[in-house]
Amino acid sequence: MQAVIFRRPGVSLECVERPDPVAGPGQVLLAVHACGVCRTDLHIVDGELDSPKLPLVLGHQIVGTVVEAGAGVDRFAPGERVGVPWLGWTCGRCRYCLTGRENLCGRALFTGYTIDGGFAERTVADARFCFPIPAGYPDLQAAPLLCAGLIGYRALTFTGDAERLGLFGFGAAAHIVTQVARWQGRRVFAFTKEGDDHGKAFARSLGAEWTGDSSEPPPEPLDATIIFAPAGELVPAALAATERGGTVVCAGIHMTDIPAFSYELLWGERTLRSVANLTRADGEAFMEVAPRVPVRTEVRPFPLAEAGNALAMLRGGGLDGALALSLTA
Ligand SMILES: [Zn+2]
Ligand SMILES: [Zn+2]
Repeated sequence: MQAVIFRRPGVSLECVERPDPVAGPGQVLLAVHACGVCRTDLHIVDGELDSPKLPLVLGHQIVGTVVEAGAGVDRFAPGERVGVPWLGWTCGRCRYCLTGRENLCGRALFTGYTIDGGFAERTVADARFCFPIPAGYPDLQAAPLLCAGLIGYRALTFTGDAERLGLFGFGAAAHIVTQVARWQGRRVFAFTKEGDDHGKAFARSLGAEWTGDSSEPPPEPLDATIIFAPAGELVPAALAATERGGTVVCAGIHMTDIPAFSYELLWGERTLRSVANLTRADGEAFMEVAPRVPVRTEVRPFPLAEAGNALAMLRGGGLDGALALSLTA
């Protein structure tokens, strides 16, 4: 198979020939059709996340069909289409796993980070952590549902019943979350980089009622905000935009340092929290919600061999929606 290999930070991704992986007990071997490209992939490539598997096949928003099911797999049969998300394995025994918080399992393995992912023609995955993809979604459009959608949805659930929702950073996750939030009857206020008129127009086209620069105050206080951009300076800005009793959710896996800020910004029972990873229950819930909205994803395709270019484009920002590798074109 062809696979894109990440060797270490500072070294360009390389497209190489590799033997096909083999499905072990409990695993499925997949033919990859599409794999989303995520901000987290950039954090790994930049050495901002600790101890990745090296060399590594990146990619944790995998859509593929089962080629072969390993011993003991009765959940999926050859030919079935499945999605593989970031959470690749958990211990099943720790206090987090036993209390519905497997996203916090200390021994968890993550697709495209501590185990090989989907920037390849074939991959293997633990069948218990895969889910069926809603039938109406083509492979490419389904890919960003698996992280941008799913972890964005988890972040949205932590805003409770907030009616006025602020979103900082309008990339792949926000373009999906805006649609879900509007469908739930919330009002969306989108903050983008200074002068990003294109991003603002895109946010409005998806239902945001107000758009502004992240340094601008919103026209009215917000009930909750979600920060998707990895920029710590947005935390005080988001707290300042959020009403008493409101929540600020940091949805990324990495963020630059948060500058010191006045206690007054947190006072008034505001909550500041992060969202880490996902549980399988999140995946099932979101895959059920997405077609009901229905969430429509904007996805720009890249051939497998151009994974490095896709990451460079993601770094540049200013994209409408998501990027994904397409392996069926
Ligand atoms: Zn991701
Ligand atoms: Zn565990």
